[in-house]
Amino acid sequence: MKLVVLTGAGISEESGVPVFRGKEGLWEGVRPEELATPAAFLRDPEKVWRWYCWRREIIARARPNRAHELLAKMEKEHDLWVITQNVDGLHQRAGSRRVIELHGNIWRLRCPSCGKVWEDPGACRSIPPRCPRCGSLARPDVVWFGEALPAEALRRSFELARQADVFVVVGTSGVVQPAADLPFIAKNSGARVIVVNPRRTPHSRIADVFLEEKASTGMEKVYELLQNKGPA
Ligand code: NAD
Ligand code: ZN
Repeated sequence: MKLVVLTGAGISEESGVPVFRGKEGLWEGVRPEELATPAAFLRDPEKVWRWYCWRREIIARARPNRAHELLAKMEKEHDLWVITQNVDGLHQRAGSRRVIELHGNIWRLRCPSCGKVWEDPGACRSIPPRCPRCGSLARPDVVWFGEALPAEALRRSFELARQADVFVVVGTSGVVQPAADLPFIAKNSGARVIVVNPRRTPHSRIADVFLEEKASTGMEKVYELLQNKGPA
């Protein structure tokens, strides 16, 4: 049985990392859609970096919660892959190894000039940080609104969606494309779809099981379901 789990910002909410689509996601009254864009970075790189540094601080203090931990545990017991839209690295910190990051990682930087990619937890010491190889302005190695997703990660995610016997969707609003398509592809390819979210989303309509609750308790139920009954 192949299990594929798509996660979004909601799985990290109980770790204290704010989701985008709620008032807690706001920073200095600015919406993420106005900061996580190439245009915003061109206009005011320091402002964009200050926002990422604020988010880095929150994520550095955060700990993986029960939902992340259960996924790491399930990876040892099932043929399981996690596809995440999160940039916080909490799946890996919980022990998951089979993680596909669709939107990059907040701890990495990238040089738009020479292409160098590197990790630097101390990047916020002086902002905006510069590329150690060529001196150009560095950016966070994350996918911004309007940008293409990493091609190989995307190809692999579509492949996994087609192969899945059970496809679990946790904590994603289902409005950010193309990740939002994955549950529909899985469903059309014959997978059972389980959705965990305290609110209805475009995915809850196609869910075989809709667990209208938070990620931690919802994932406990998913764990039990797969443990006892299999995908039925
Ligand atoms: P989103 O902010 O658009 O939606 C969050 C979803 O999580 C909503 O549907 C909400 O109902 C649900 N939710 C809220 N609390 C929850 C909980 N405790 N348990 C389960 N579900 C909960 O997030 P998105 O769909 O992931 O898309 C926004 C984009 O911004 C993505 O690229 C996302 O990864 C990124 N982002 C990442 C982080 C992070 O890395 N932790 C945080 C904010 C936004
Ligand atoms: Zn460079």
